[in-house]
Formats: sequence, C-alpha cells, structure tokens
Amino acid sequence: MSITVGRFAPTPSGKMHLGNVLCSLLAWLSARSQGGKIILRVEDLDTERSNWEFQRQIEDDLLWLGLTWDEGGVDADNHRYCQSRRTDIYLRYFAQLEEMGLIYPCFCSRAELHAASAPHRSDGRFLYTGTCRNLTPEEVAQKRKLRPPAARIRVPDREVAFTDLHYGPYTENLAEECGDFVVRRADGVFAYQLAVAIDDALMGVTEVVRGNDLLSSSPRQIWLHELFGFPPPQYGHIPLLTAFDGRRLSKRDGDLDLSRLRTLYSPEEIIGMLGKAAGLLDEYRPISAENLISYFDWKKIPLEDIRLPENFPERLSV
Ligand SMILES: [Zn+2]
Repeated sequence: MSITVGRFAPTPSGKMHLGNVLCSLLAWLSARSQGGKIILRVEDLDTERSNWEFQRQIEDDLLWLGLTWDEGGVDADNHRYCQSRRTDIYLRYFAQLEEMGLIYPCFCSRAELHAASAPHRSDGRFLYTGTCRNLTPEEVAQKRKLRPPAARIRVPDREVAFTDLHYGPYTENLAEECGDFVVRRADGVFAYQLAVAIDDALMGVTEVVRGNDLLSSSPRQIWLHELFGFPPPQYGHIPLLTAFDGRRLSKRDGDLDLSRLRTLYSPEEIIGMLGKAAGLLDEYRPISAENLISYFDWKKIPLEDIRLPENFPERLSV
C-alpha cells in the first residue's frame, strides 16, 4: 500500500505569516490523518529574495507549532531539499523538453508582453500571444545579440482536467487559457512551475495542499508531470486567510507574522484559532496540532476565503 506524502514548501523571503501557518497546518493534518509523511522543501529559487536565515526561522516556527516533518529542511542532506541547489536536476529535465522540441527562446521584454498580450484573465495572468513562437533561426541569432532570451514551452491546444480534493473538478485548456509559459528566465533561473513539478515527482510527493491562488497552476504542473512520465500528485487547494475586511495578508503585515504572535499566544491557542477559522472545530478552544488530527475533514473547510476577526491579533477568535 502506498503511503501519503505531503509537503511544506515555504519560500524563505520573509517571516511566516498566519496564512502560511494555515496552509502548513492543513497540509500537515491531511497527511497525518492518513498516517502519511511530510517533506519540507525550501523554495528559494529566487536567491536575491530568499535567505536561509528566514528559512531557519520558519522551521523553528513550524516545530514550535508542533508541525513536524519527516524529511527535508534547509540543512538536511547537504541542502539537497533547497531548490537553489537543484539546478543540475532541472537542467537535465529541461534538456528533455528541448529534445521534445517544446522549448523556444522568447525575447519579449516585460513592457512588450503587457502591450501585446491578450486581456487579463480573472486571476491576473496574461495570455502570451506567441510573438516569438515561430521566429526563424536568423531572427533568433539577430535577437540574441541584443538580449538573452527566456525559454518558453509550447503548450498543446487541449484540456487538462483533474479533481481537486477541495474544489472538485477543474479543467483548463492550456493554449486558450494559459498560453506558452516561461520555464526558464532570461537570467537562467528555472521557473517555479518547472521546478515544483520536478521536485514533487522526484521527492515522491503524492498530495499537494496549498492556497487556492495556485489552483490555476495545477493544470500546467500536471501537464509537465505527464511529459516526464511522472504520475501527478493529488491537489487540494485551500481558501486564503484574509484580514477582516477581505484584504489579502502579506509578509508586510508585521502584526500577523508568527514572531509577533509567538509573544502573545501559545501554540495551542494559535492552532485552536485556525482550527475554528477553517471549520474543523465548532468553537474556539486551545488544542495541539496532534489533537486536531482527528477533526480534519475536507468537507468542513469553507470554499470561500476565511476572514480573521476584527482587532486581530488582540482578539483571537470570533
Ligand atoms: Zn516573446
């Protein structure tokens, strides 16, 4: 029988905020409620913004909350769970895509992309119109003299469908709704979509739990899994945690970062508050992550975003 393998995949570009905590908690509860494992991967592809000191703080916060993992972390096995140290692996898979004839250079600047792109999608993504899709070798050679290209992947005109553990059936036509996407930036850094698909597969992840802002990334990642011959993981997206007025939380919300909350509350109080906010507990009470496992049920979690109480963090729960 195969075991569920979930994952934490923080980006160490700042302190952990409460939305990150909710996501980690639900990923952990889902895996643990099935007797599964958790892997901790460090998504530090963007080495300018990422910092291992932040990562060590995140790991300390997770342990303080009782959210343990079985494998990975910044210092484990010579940093091999850090995306910044996995470039050789991504290169190998990128070469496979090149051999399949799916990769082409894109010379568009950000301004050109905005000017030439099809209208905004509802989630704010641009649909690439294919400006560089059919350049001749001469045009490519000419343009290379002016600027290094990004690498885009040619997507097929077909639907990719999957059933989300929380939001149910989800379908996207890659050509019509996404367009050819960047898999390697002009500075050589591999794009999130490619790195995540490869890492989830190679690390044996079978279940991805993350915020619903990434729901529309899933068809691209599933398609990449298919190209490489990997079985895709199951995806479960969760509602986002917002301020009481519906504003999205960000790493700039100092009041909501865990280092401040740790001075105000115990781990059980924070877990209890999030357990109530996510619908797992009928009413607020302090509880450990371990004791919350038996309350986990996707059906109890709301589909719409979850609002924090007004006056949070002074007031813990509604
Ligand atoms: Zn282009």
